[in-house]
Amino acid sequence: MGGAGPQARKAVIVGGSVAGLFVGNMLHRQGWDVAVYERVPDDLASRGAGIARHAEMVPIMAAAGVTETGPLGIEVEGRVAVDRHGRELGRFRFAQHLTSWSYVYNPLKAAFPAGRYHGGRELVAIERQAGRPVACFADGSRVVADLVVGADGFRSRVRALFAAAVVPRYAGYVAWRGLVPEAELPAAFRAAGFGDYCFCFPPGGQFIGYPVAGADDSVVPGRRRYNFLWYRHVPDGAPLADLLTDGSGQRHDYSIPPPLIRPDLVARLHRDAAADLPPALADVVGRVAHPMLQPIYDVESDRIAFDGVALIGDAAFVARPHAGIGVLKAGEDAHALALALAAEPRVAAALDRFSAERLPAGKQAVALGRRLGAFIERGLDTPQTDPSLGLTTEFILRVSARPPSHSPELAA
Ligand SMILES: Cc1cc2nc3c(=O)[nH]c(=O)nc-3n(C[C@H](O)[C@H](O)[C@H](O)COP(=O)(O)OP(=O)(O)OC[C@H]3O[C@@H](n4cnc5c(N)ncnc54)[C@H](O)[C@@H]3O)c2cc1C
Repeated sequence: MGGAGPQARKAVIVGGSVAGLFVGNMLHRQGWDVAVYERVPDDLASRGAGIARHAEMVPIMAAAGVTETGPLGIEVEGRVAVDRHGRELGRFRFAQHLTSWSYVYNPLKAAFPAGRYHGGRELVAIERQAGRPVACFADGSRVVADLVVGADGFRSRVRALFAAAVVPRYAGYVAWRGLVPEAELPAAFRAAGFGDYCFCFPPGGQFIGYPVAGADDSVVPGRRRYNFLWYRHVPDGAPLADLLTDGSGQRHDYSIPPPLIRPDLVARLHRDAAADLPPALADVVGRVAHPMLQPIYDVESDRIAFDGVALIGDAAFVARPHAGIGVLKAGEDAHALALALAAEPRVAAALDRFSAERLPAGKQAVALGRRLGAFIERGLDTPQTDPSLGLTTEFILRVSARPPSHSPELAA
């Protein structure tokens, strides 16, 4: 279903990752003439790592034209916190699916008409022609549209054009991330530990580990992977700059490709893991020769709709990953925009409706991420070191990696 008739309204989607594909698929199915423009020439599937897959995603995937017949990922029964020796500190029952980012991205990409997805096209400016936005690309091409959607991630060019003051703000810590094939893990860990959604609080940080789908999206035992995220306090300035400086002395902005991370930093990570993590989790970290390193940023917009232009996904708001809702939020933004455009004949009225719904939701997500990461931002030894933060083990286990709507007290 879907496809554009001769009178179809035209949408330019900037960014061909999850947010762009959500909205591209939804508008295509509503009869819009849609094209997605993605800066990266290649497929993005290899980019992501493990994500929490929420039940709220099912209707959103359906609205994007993805019928899910297989398993939604790997089901865990709940969350468990352990101390440095692997002894249990707390447990919270909450069944959910954990999966890989590509498990969401791949079907969204497959559902979108290939001829309407243009890789290797970078948006550089948005001009106006007879009141309509005109997307201008680095190759000199221009596309006149009724709507431009900025789905171009946390360093959004579209956002910079309309709200230059809104920039990513470093949160004071980084996430080291890695994936280990299940088959490479010790039998003892595969038998006990692998299936847990595990939280641990090494000094000045937080470690999270959980099973995700395999590289081929398989959830069959034996072919899955174990995903870890280790948030570590790193002050801005020289300490962060050192992490982002490669072996040739080049300092990278915002993030650094894993192969360029200096071996001495990886060796230090492995040493610290041996000192600060339970042996089974230290073993997992030690098996990853090329971990990913992502400084954590907040992005908080005050406006997400401009004249014929909307911001969605990470371009609009980035909530720290403790909230675990980046992909869901991208889908909810896209869905709200598509529904508003279906309900309102005028784009301007639809953007007002979209903005009224999603601006507060984005701010709430950012606030939740900030709250859950406050102890790492300050480099505190444990979440409980400053009781005024209200970060008990119980709170962290219960509230992390869930939409804020699951926790009524967050609305206060
Ligand atoms: C450590 C970490 C853990 C996370 N864990 C989770 C989790 O458990 N659950 C979850 O839901 N989310 C998680 N997230 C967040 C999630 O990955 C993001 O929220 C999500 O990928 C955002 O999608 P997006 O499409 O908005 O942006 P992106 O995925 O960043 O995509 C933006 C796209 O726009 C393209 N682009 C940029 N500029 C231009 C331009 N000028 N022209 C054309 N194209 C352009 C880029 O190449 C990119 O492909 C995590 C994030 C991090 C960092």
